[in-house]
Amino acid sequence: MKNPSYCFFILFFVTACSTSSTGRNQVSLYSDAELNNMGVNSFKQMKKEIPISTDKATNEFVHCVADTITKNVPKSAHQGEWEIVVFDSVQINAFALPGGKIGVYTGILNVTEDQHQLAAIIGHEVGHVLEHHSNERLSANKLSNVGLMVAGIALGASDVDNKGLWVAGLGLGVQYGVIMPYSRAHESEADIVGQDLMARSGFDPKASIKLWKNMSKLNKDAPPEFMSTHPANQTRIKQLSEHLAISQPYYLTKKNLSQGSLPQCVKPKIIPKPKRKSTVKGETKLK
Ligand SMILES: [Zn+2]
Repeated sequence: MKNPSYCFFILFFVTACSTSSTGRNQVSLYSDAELNNMGVNSFKQMKKEIPISTDKATNEFVHCVADTITKNVPKSAHQGEWEIVVFDSVQINAFALPGGKIGVYTGILNVTEDQHQLAAIIGHEVGHVLEHHSNERLSANKLSNVGLMVAGIALGASDVDNKGLWVAGLGLGVQYGVIMPYSRAHESEADIVGQDLMARSGFDPKASIKLWKNMSKLNKDAPPEFMSTHPANQTRIKQLSEHLAISQPYYLTKKNLSQGSLPQCVKPKIIPKPKRKSTVKGETKLK
């Protein structure tokens, strides 16, 4: 939200303006409770439709990394336990949802070389949640739908009835046949917030740079879904490199304080191939 007058216009009708941790103005028309509800319901649906990995070593690895990260997420972002599910799918994908939900596809584990790179993915995804990006996207949708009409804003600020918009707003992308990439500003913010989060959790933030370099090398002709919503480019790698000046000290402090008890999540040598196909539209197209 670049134009402050736009923000004031909306503020006149609803309490909707806030600032992200990196200082961006945000318009959020939905309450946290509404977003959490959407996240929880979407996750429930995904668990019904996408096979869940039962491989012990794979689950232990993902839980080890994700649990370490979520322990370092402020309680204000989510009260209570985070639920982490490993989906058995070739998709190179992962996501985090408001309401304390994290999904990691086994496909992405073939890209992440070690615990640090997986932490970079999870940190980035949780970064989208911490910065309320879903709320912003859904709010932008709503505003464009009502064409900024006063009556529209006043009447419909809180009802959510379009599932397509939900899942897109939550960043779930092609799983439900709707792709709406996060904006550059959201990606950039999630990168920074995610790098800080992984470093504070005891993972080496330098791994985020290697990860995105590896991502950008992936199958350029037919990029995986994650890459269609998460463009890897030189700008983002440059920004991540520059931000090491901030995040590396967090990691070193954690390292000194932990006296050798840094996370030691071991990636299994073999990530078993999915046994069953997902019933979700669009997923089978991806290799
Ligand atoms: Zn992202």
